[in-house]
Amino acid sequence: MTFRSKTIIGIATIEVILLVILVVSAMGFLRDSNESQLIQRANTTTEMFMNATKDAVLSTDVARLDDLVNDIVTVEDVQYVKVVRQGITLASAGDNILLKRDVISDVDLSSVNDGVFDKRVPIMVNGDEFGHIEMGFGTESINAMLEKARKSIIGIAAVEVILVAIFSFVLGTYLTRSLVRLTHATKTLSERGPGYQINSASKDELGQLSHAFDEMSRKLEATYDELRQARKEAEYACDSKSRFLASMSHEIRTPMNGVLGILSLLEETKISKEQKQLLTTATESGNFLLSIINDILDFTRMESNTLLLENKKFNVRRSFESVVDTYTTTAKSKDLILHLYFEGSMPEYAKGDVNRLKQVMHNLIGNAMKFTEQGSVTIKVSSELKSDHCLLNFSVIDTGIGIEQDAIPYLFDEFTMVDQTFSRSQEGSGLGLAICQRLCELMDGSISVTSEKGTGSTFSVSVRLDLADDASDETNQSKSSTDDLSHLRILVAEDNKANQLVIVNMFKNVGVNIDVAENGKEALEAVTRYDYDLVFMDISMPVMDGMEACKAIRELDSETANVPIIALTAHALTGDREQFIASGMDDYLSKPVRLSQLVEKIHLFLNINGDEDCNLTQNSQVTLRKSQSEQEETNTEQSEPFPMNHDTSHLDSNLVDETVLQQMIQDTCAEVIPTLIEHYVEESRARLEKIYQAITERDAEQLEFESHTLGSSAMALGNRELALLARKIEGLCLEGQAEEAYQFIDELKDLATRSIAALEARKLKGFEQSA
Ligand code: ADP
Repeated sequence: MTFRSKTIIGIATIEVILLVILVVSAMGFLRDSNESQLIQRANTTTEMFMNATKDAVLSTDVARLDDLVNDIVTVEDVQYVKVVRQGITLASAGDNILLKRDVISDVDLSSVNDGVFDKRVPIMVNGDEFGHIEMGFGTESINAMLEKARKSIIGIAAVEVILVAIFSFVLGTYLTRSLVRLTHATKTLSERGPGYQINSASKDELGQLSHAFDEMSRKLEATYDELRQARKEAEYACDSKSRFLASMSHEIRTPMNGVLGILSLLEETKISKEQKQLLTTATESGNFLLSIINDILDFTRMESNTLLLENKKFNVRRSFESVVDTYTTTAKSKDLILHLYFEGSMPEYAKGDVNRLKQVMHNLIGNAMKFTEQGSVTIKVSSELKSDHCLLNFSVIDTGIGIEQDAIPYLFDEFTMVDQTFSRSQEGSGLGLAICQRLCELMDGSISVTSEKGTGSTFSVSVRLDLADDASDETNQSKSSTDDLSHLRILVAEDNKANQLVIVNMFKNVGVNIDVAENGKEALEAVTRYDYDLVFMDISMPVMDGMEACKAIRELDSETANVPIIALTAHALTGDREQFIASGMDDYLSKPVRLSQLVEKIHLFLNINGDEDCNLTQNSQVTLRKSQSEQEETNTEQSEPFPMNHDTSHLDSNLVDETVLQQMIQDTCAEVIPTLIEHYVEESRARLEKIYQAITERDAEQLEFESHTLGSSAMALGNRELALLARKIEGLCLEGQAEEAYQFIDELKDLATRSIAALEARKLKGFEQSA
């Protein structure tokens, strides 16, 4: 009910009640006063009439009595009169019907039931009743007057009620309008902000209320303007902070990557123990700095909403396994149990940003490892399948130092490090969890934590991923973009350090980090531990050679037995191919291998037909439009004879094949070549010593193995003549003509010295990346 209706009804109700009381009491008063007047008149008239007729009654003067009764009935209101003496009516006048009744004196108006107030007066003589007078007075005039009075009072009351109703309506409307204006003003203020004015002209209390509102709105507007300005300035400051951070991080990251690359090359050189220690510290610090820079970059991108997620197909289990695998060494060294298990069924593939998902896993598992000194770190993964998507849930549960309850609410805020004393002793920026939380939110998910100080913590993540139904999408992605190679896990088994370095750097060039096994046995162990997409296997290796390792892998009792294995061989002699196939190899490549050949094999064995030209990097534009047979031709071509060298400006073009070096620059990068050469030189010197010793000791087997290895790396680094001689010696040993082979010792010594010197001289001239 509106305020106006309430006002009207309230006032009208009070008014009506008061009027009813007034009307009732006024009518009562009128009636009472008329009644007493009537009674008094009746008493006086009958008393006077009795006195006037007393003598005529006593003397029975009927004529006089008749005159008297006829006179009295003419008096107003007298309806009848009767003079009775000792039961006999001596005279009467008036209404005959009334005269015939037995009369009892009425006391007041309430006893009147026939419209006549009856009065009986005795005529007393000497104390005895001698006769009596009966007289009736009409009450109609009183009733008519009372009725008239009632009508006019009710009329006046009705008019008053109407006037009061109108007044209360007007008052209600005025009050309501003021209140409605105030309400409207408050709503406008809350919707559009302060500043709205009522501008009421009224001076009464409601007017004052409106003025107070206007004043409040004005002041609020002024404060708001100040706040808005302050916010703008703060946002601008924050924006420039983000831009500064982003550009600084980017600027630092590029040279930092270079520093780390150089450190990794330095690690491969001959350095003292102390230097190695310093190098390790420098590398660790560099990596830490890089991780902080990456965190800051991520964070600033998230703050400015410029971080976009990919939506590509990936293998769910494998993504967890590959992350958890990277912590096995740390877990072992800290004597922690690291456990990954999948609960219930799991979609094999899903679509999302696997790298960002892995970043969240790394952060949580990394923290768990960091803050746990004993016990275990468990990763539980489960999924909920919905109609068009799935929810991937995982928890990282540790038995570490735990987190104070007070710290939990702000744990996901940026730059939070809870236990300062402990955290400071650990690496960290306090950004990790803040980034995780934002990443989870970007993946329509959430992250939460439960923890007990001293007992351990559980971080739980839930993210929404699109479903991916068949495996073909994933493969197509690899086909459409060379970046996709980065998700592959590749093993290279190679004992020769120089060759290892070349291959590692080649793969680095296309963004693939490979694992290296030093020999067949290590390769066998690696494939049983990790799930590789492809294995490149050197044939001639110490401990266990490539063919033996391949056979052992094929005999494994698991899926791993089917991993594609490609032989890397220093020379493909007739019949070798059959041997490789017989040992279970899928294919082979001749050394020195080119990056294009490695990549082509990767594409070939991951079901890519190579029907597109594929620009790997600016340095290695490789056409993959070759069939396997063409590929084999290339292998043969490269294995024997060596690529022709047309560059005659060299010290000795036969000693150092510039073409090979240029190819290597294309396949890796110019900066690494000097280090590769140093490695090769150092290793070859040691190998040559072994060769000379084998010759001295007439150890044909040793001579065959070492000259094979020398030939392979000499060929990779462009010492072409040296490689040819080494092969010749190896060939003689293979053919059982070791004695003949031993004769080449001096030639070998001389050629090796000159070849190495030529290569070192070439190194001094420097290498440049060709355009
Ligand atoms: P940081 O890079 O410093 O690890 P995070 O945001 O990842 O930053 O973590 C913030 C802080 O939360 C850590 O410094 C640590 O105090 C606390 N914390 C995170 N994970 C754990 C955990 N598993 N156990 C105990 N404390 C943890």
